[in-house]
Amino acid sequence: MTHPTPSRAHVLGFPRIGAHRELKFAQEAYWSGAITEASLRDTGSALRQRHWALQQAAGLDLVCVGDFAWYDQVLNTLALLGALPTRFGFETEQLSLADYFVAARGNPQHHAMEMTKWFDTNYHYLVPEWTADSRFDGGVDWLFEELAEAQALAHTPKVTLLGPLSLLYLGKTKGGLGHSLELLHKLIPAYQKVLSRLQQAGVEWLQIDEPILALDLDQQWLNAFLPSYTALAQQAPKLLLSTYFEAVDEHASLIHSLPLDGVHLDLVRAPQQLAAFLENWPQGRVLSAGVIDGRNIWRADLSSLLKQLQPLQQQLGDQLWISSSCSLLHVPVDLAAETSLAPETLSWLAFATQKLDEVVALKLALHGNAEAVLPQFIAAQTAIASRASSARIHNPVVQKRLAEVRSSDAQRQHPFSQRIAAQQQRFALPLFPTTSIGSFPQTALIRQTRAAYKRGAIKHIEYLEAMRAEIRLVVEAQEKIGIDVLVHGEPERNDMVEYFGEQLWGYGFSLNGWVQSYGSRCVKPPFIYGDVYRPEAMTVAWSEYAQSLSDKPMKGMLTGPVTMLQWSFVRDDQPRQTTALQIALALRDEVQDLERAGIGMIQIDEPAFREGLPLKRKDWAAYLDWAVRAFKLSSAGVSDETQIHTHMCYSEFNDILPWIAAMDADVITIETSRSDMELLAGFGDFAYPNDIGPGVYDIHSPRVPRVSEMQNLLQKARSVIPDARLWVNPDCGLKTRAWPETIAALEHMVQAAKLLRASA
Ligand code: GLN
Ligand code: ZN
Repeated sequence: MTHPTPSRAHVLGFPRIGAHRELKFAQEAYWSGAITEASLRDTGSALRQRHWALQQAAGLDLVCVGDFAWYDQVLNTLALLGALPTRFGFETEQLSLADYFVAARGNPQHHAMEMTKWFDTNYHYLVPEWTADSRFDGGVDWLFEELAEAQALAHTPKVTLLGPLSLLYLGKTKGGLGHSLELLHKLIPAYQKVLSRLQQAGVEWLQIDEPILALDLDQQWLNAFLPSYTALAQQAPKLLLSTYFEAVDEHASLIHSLPLDGVHLDLVRAPQQLAAFLENWPQGRVLSAGVIDGRNIWRADLSSLLKQLQPLQQQLGDQLWISSSCSLLHVPVDLAAETSLAPETLSWLAFATQKLDEVVALKLALHGNAEAVLPQFIAAQTAIASRASSARIHNPVVQKRLAEVRSSDAQRQHPFSQRIAAQQQRFALPLFPTTSIGSFPQTALIRQTRAAYKRGAIKHIEYLEAMRAEIRLVVEAQEKIGIDVLVHGEPERNDMVEYFGEQLWGYGFSLNGWVQSYGSRCVKPPFIYGDVYRPEAMTVAWSEYAQSLSDKPMKGMLTGPVTMLQWSFVRDDQPRQTTALQIALALRDEVQDLERAGIGMIQIDEPAFREGLPLKRKDWAAYLDWAVRAFKLSSAGVSDETQIHTHMCYSEFNDILPWIAAMDADVITIETSRSDMELLAGFGDFAYPNDIGPGVYDIHSPRVPRVSEMQNLLQKARSVIPDARLWVNPDCGLKTRAWPETIAALEHMVQAAKLLRASA
């Protein structure tokens, strides 16, 4: 069917934000009216050109076109097809950039499209809305313009596009449409038009992404692949079907049967899947081997990858292409700006720009140019050797301690029923105790003071006094409102992971390692490079000070091991669970120090607990088992009278309730107000045994709910949770709120609890 083409080096996509977040700043300037649309477009174009030039200069054979987006790649696909939600009433072929941003961000007339996590990454895409009247009759020409731009610069483009089945699958059906597959017959002709236009424009290769193949897929979705791809292949560039984030070998025969010119597999996440594919690899079909990690920041072990690839190359010859495991969207842009890291640490890392070189080095080495890339191989080998032996990474104290952990260490001394009796004795809390989740408004002044301290612009004592003043304010406010269990407000924390990471050994921080989270929002995850060790107490002084100001219980406040892991780049030289358990041990020491300092309640936040779930259900139990173990290892080293709290944000719990219960926190607070307490139903059905605080108001909005609204929610909660087990608290921390609405809402919350007590 196809003519063999020479082996190629390529990546599945390059980050679009720019090495200095140029796109973010241009987007935000445009939204605020500070720059014109033309100027925003210039920034976009300059970034694309720069990124193509980088790919070309590195020696990639193809540059990616279509990985750019003004906000999100899924939204760009909708714009291309003319498939933005019909509720906006846009003229799809004339869609302006301003309209596009209305869909992404909303305006007074239209609420924004919903946003959700892209598979198991921290990137968020805009969720397509499928309705009976969804249309696909053609959209904007941006992709074709970008293609022309690349061609004019004499690049060899490979266009990347999200495939039709993944696009459909990732959307939500609304407004009377039974199943999104009902739209397939309208969607395929729209893709056909795009594909034949690309072919006419001289595109040789189209990378068509079908990441849903990595999920547990129903038969009806699987059945849709062959007819869809048969229709698409009729008039199209060569099709490289790309999959990533998990193994797709259970679909090997289906994928073999599709009319494709190439298939991309993620061999970092799932190297074992190769065998099933190689058995009867279709003649002439390209295998794009995703061997350079697009999800992590470590320098690749080029020599061992080369050994892995050599037999493959013997089998496939030029049909073997070399690539990143997935788009490089998920890693920072360039190491060049990292001037603060120790040279040794720096040598272990590769950001997107460096990964381009790695892909090319492998391809050249496979094709007999080993000499040309020898220096790169030597540098990689040196880095790998240094990681294997560096004292920065390997801490015998930590390793010995972890090896000696006994299962009893992850078990409280007595069951909940006994503990709660002891705790009630100690704290004598009223029915429906009131509390908050931890943070209080982070005013501009707090942020400035922290920043000034970090810069060295103010002295330690000035910083201490400023933070203590803030803590006093927060404690006084809570006393005045009449809250039962207090918090210190977390003014000293910039971020719930970074704050702890900065104090732990084994954690590193980049200066400029930004990764797009959504739209213009970027995050700079820390990286865990070594055994995690807590050299000294991290929060005790703050909590002790706060407790000294009040007779009411003051909750100590920590970030749990799973969340510490989930929101960082994690080392790849040991299992994730080993790292989680190391963090758990560090936290365990902190928990015990807090207990010794007289802090009777300690909250260990795990908002990312559910996020860590693997893509495939068969892997869930293994993850949940170690995640629960890590939480318990961090929390179980205290006496019965010490009350352990945990907090989780908006997530579905119903399918993982046995594990949530197994965490055995004395109190769990969860976000439920936006779901009208629906999330709580599962806890009732499951007869969740411990105390629970369902959030009674949404902290994402400045709106102050009425007392009666909170009462209603609490009445609903009472219908599923016994009174003795029920707490009263907001959905989450208050750091993004302003003071006036915070006070007003908490006052209402306390009144609602009091009214409830009176009626109970
Ligand atoms: N204790 C944290 C806070 O209140 C919890 C944040 C979170 O759940 N994301 O800010
Ligand atoms: Zn939260």
